Amino acid sequence: MQITIALTKGRILKETLPLLAAAGLEPAEDIFSSRKLIFDTNREGVRLLLLRGSDVPTYVQHGAADLGVAGKDTLLEHRTDGIYEPLDLGIARCRLMTAGIRGAELPRGRIKVATKFVESARRYYAARGRQADIIKLYGAMELAPLMGLADEIVDIVDTGNTLKANGLEARDTIAQISSRLIVNKASMKMKYEPIRALVDRLAEAVGTEPVA
Ligand code: AMP
Repeated sequence: MQITIALTKGRILKETLPLLAAAGLEPAEDIFSSRKLIFDTNREGVRLLLLRGSDVPTYVQHGAADLGVAGKDTLLEHRTDGIYEPLDLGIARCRLMTAGIRGAELPRGRIKVATKFVESARRYYAARGRQADIIKLYGAMELAPLMGLADEIVDIVDTGNTLKANGLEARDTIAQISSRLIVNKASMKMKYEPIRALVDRLAEAVGTEPVA
C-alpha cells in the first residue's frame, strides 16, 4: 500500500524532518541538496512530496496525497471539507496579526487592508463590523502601508523584527499559528492501519494526543 505525505518546502521543512525522523520516517536521500520533488523513504511504500505551502491542503483534499504538513495560516485560507486535522505539530509557531504604521490611527469608515491571507482578514474585520476593502498581495506586505496602498496589513509575525525594520507596529492577534498534520478523509478510511500508526507515532514524537 502506497502512502504519500505532502510537505511544505522551506523553513517549515527544517522543523518537520526531525519530527518525522522521531516517528521513524526518514527520506532515502538528502532532501536539501536535491531538486527532486518526490522522495522515497526508509519505509517501504511511503513517499514524500515537496510542495509550496499553499498547495499542501489542495493535494490532501483531492487525495493526491494521503497526509500533509501545513501551516494553520494556510489551512485558514483553504476549504477544509475532505480533510481531517488530527494533530498540532507545535512547530513553525508564529502569529497572524494586523499591523500598520507605528502610531498612525486608522481612518474612520472603510479601510484598505493588504494581505496574502484574504479569507482570515475578511472574517476578522467582518466579525468586528469594520468595513474593509481587502487587497490581495503575494509578498512584502510591509510595503503596502508605507506606499499608501493600505491602512493596515494582515501578516505573519514571529519576532516582529520585519515590522519594526519597516516602521510598522503589530496590532491585534488574529490567530496563533503552528504547523498541523492533515489527513485526507477517504485515505483515513481506506488506509486506516498505516495512517493511524503514523499519526500515533507523530503524536508521541510531539508529546500530545491526536484529536481524531
Ligand atoms: P519576523 O520578522 O520574525 O516577525 O518574521 C516575519 C516574517 O517571516 C513574516 O513576514 C513571514 O513571511 C515569515 N515567517 C516567520 N515565521 C513564519 C512561519 N512560522 N511560517 C511562515 N512564515 C513565517
